[in-house]
Amino acid sequence: MVERLSSIEEARRVVFEAKRQDKIVGFVPTMGALHDGHMSLVREAGRRCDVAVVSIFVNPTQFAHGEDFEGYPRDLVRDMELLGAEGVDFVFTPSASEMYPSGESGVEVDPGPLAKRWCGEGRPGHFRGVATVVAKLFNIVRADLAFFGEKDYQQLLLVRALARDLAFPVKIVGCPTVREHDGLAMSSRNEYLSAQERSAAVALSRALAAAQSAFDAGERDGAALVQAMETTVEAEPLVRLEYATVVDPATLEPLAQADRGSRALIAAHVGRARLIDNAALGI
Ligand code: AMP
Repeated sequence: MVERLSSIEEARRVVFEAKRQDKIVGFVPTMGALHDGHMSLVREAGRRCDVAVVSIFVNPTQFAHGEDFEGYPRDLVRDMELLGAEGVDFVFTPSASEMYPSGESGVEVDPGPLAKRWCGEGRPGHFRGVATVVAKLFNIVRADLAFFGEKDYQQLLLVRALARDLAFPVKIVGCPTVREHDGLAMSSRNEYLSAQERSAAVALSRALAAAQSAFDAGERDGAALVQAMETTVEAEPLVRLEYATVVDPATLEPLAQADRGSRALIAAHVGRARLIDNAALGI
């Protein structure tokens, strides 16, 4: 039976008890509205750990001004059912006041240089909010392993840097992106899409596929690979490109010359959804 924990105190207690029994604790932080992408992380935690803790918290501080915090999809009943069926032990569902006892004037974590570009530019304050909430969650759920999706590639790098630079005793495990049948990366925000927008949204993964085929055909010029992505997106009038780029997979700096393992990143707006996706070239 899955047990719901609402307070930091309770979450600390169950993890402490599991660790006392020498159990390996796995942690999957989410904002809920769970889909198969989230569940792939949960299953990986189940395979690699003795106890799985999932958090569901729509973190207000990672939404930029004017973004979709209020309208973000929430369905705790269904989420609990899915997690129960998967054999998850604990679901941590704190309130905002539990997580932010000082309100808006609390201590925050500086997300460092990885947060400056790409989604950091389009969503001011987003990665500061992510770094702060992830640090707090790591302090509450003292897991051995924490699972994050490659779908949010910049976030994954940032969380790895956070764990390393602030010496959190947790191993970060990156998990592959789970996609719909037509290639669209699963996302809670896909719920916002009308039928027409849903068909158009496949332009993001198609753009990555275009960069991938150009790379496979021998193209290494960064600008040409970006052009291949832009051309694909421009063919779809319902999709408004925010950025398309080819970057170093560790630093996220844009590349004049791509290489095997370089990362293609894309962000675009479709209706009221802001969607992101990425792929490793040549892999
Ligand atoms: P979110 O609820 O959007 O904050 O996501 C929670 C975790 O699930 C993050 O580590 C995401 O990267 C991961 N995630 C979201 N969508 C996917 C997906 N399609 N495939 C794999 N992981 C995902």
